[in-house]
Amino acid sequence: MTHQPILPGAVLGVLGSGQLGRMFAIAAREMGYRVHVYSNETDSPAGHIADREFVGDYTDVDRIREFARTVDVVTFEFENISAEAAQAIEEIGPVRPGGHVLHISQNRLREKQTLADAGLPVTPFRPVRSSAELETAIQDLGCPGVLKTAEGGYDGKGQVALKAASEAAAAWQELGQLECIYEQFIEFEREVSVVASRGLDGEFAACGPVHNDHHNHILDVSICPDPTLDSLREEAMRIARGVLETLDVVGVMCVEMFVQADGSILINEVAPRPHNSGHLTIEASPCSQFEQQVRAICGLPLGDMQPHTPSAMANLLGDLWVGGEPDWLEALRIPGVRLHLYGKQEPRNGRKMGHLTAIAGTLEAAVANVQKARKALTRNQ
Ligand code: AMP
Repeated sequence: MTHQPILPGAVLGVLGSGQLGRMFAIAAREMGYRVHVYSNETDSPAGHIADREFVGDYTDVDRIREFARTVDVVTFEFENISAEAAQAIEEIGPVRPGGHVLHISQNRLREKQTLADAGLPVTPFRPVRSSAELETAIQDLGCPGVLKTAEGGYDGKGQVALKAASEAAAAWQELGQLECIYEQFIEFEREVSVVASRGLDGEFAACGPVHNDHHNHILDVSICPDPTLDSLREEAMRIARGVLETLDVVGVMCVEMFVQADGSILINEVAPRPHNSGHLTIEASPCSQFEQQVRAICGLPLGDMQPHTPSAMANLLGDLWVGGEPDWLEALRIPGVRLHLYGKQEPRNGRKMGHLTAIAGTLEAAVANVQKARKALTRNQ
């Protein structure tokens, strides 16, 4: 089937209105598109940039239909949308990535099983729907392990690490006896991601591998391109491409991976949208992950997402506001540093309020400058 490209001037719809929608909307507007967002919030990060902000519940299928009728294509930045809502939109116009991708990536079990069935390397796992199944899973895979709810978890929420089999009953209770997945604990050397994209015609382009450091289960710092990951690059790209092809993704998808001591790679999880670890593409790549999302969903040629400049990104969480407004001036004095704030009013602890990206002549300088800039924000508090 051939598709007509959706050209500048058309209206792009985004489900979800957080920072990912905001940066998508900025990229889309730069390219001359109009943007409508749909979410259950007003005055939202993406709503500030959009031409129109639709407010409604994610379960209000009639309101979602009304939104879908005003746009030429729908994409999303928030993936917990019901299958019914996704289907309602697909009856009106294209959804990219499609409802089938949402359906699979909303459930960790479905996601891991689909990727494993395609022969892709995933962390060893077992389904857990009862305490008896958890016991069997622990017998099969051993302990330590991680019990995760199949649906609804993010940034480490909805998961419990198990150090010994005796902790199983408490973990099962703690997660509310919901459908879960038990994964073997991977003693990884590093966490990396590939932010990948696939066009309507199957064209593939990606950024990565990006090296990611987490703090309290939340992404803290990402760096790319990292020469110490060069030897893994081909394999990481092969896996990412395999994931997007298996799921028939049209759009951007992040594949998060663990690198083990022997250099082998296992997929941890995937996200069917741009990702926090790809924010550095805004400064460091010819085509950012957000411009790529526009290109892919509109059927345009894909751009080059691989960073050509050493870059580092550091998240700014609400915790930085504890002592008052951060000192933006101090941070912005550091060469090569750029500030992104998401327009969120309430700086709660752990809430992603913005990020800094530093580009520099070397990776070491980029990492040092982004850390220095983040420290400078609170130096005088
Ligand atoms: P997730 O929400 O699945 O991305 O998990 C959040 C973080 O928990 C990951 O970035 C890892 O640092 C850690 N983690 C999750 N699953 C495992 C695992 N099977 N083995 C070791 N660490 C894990």
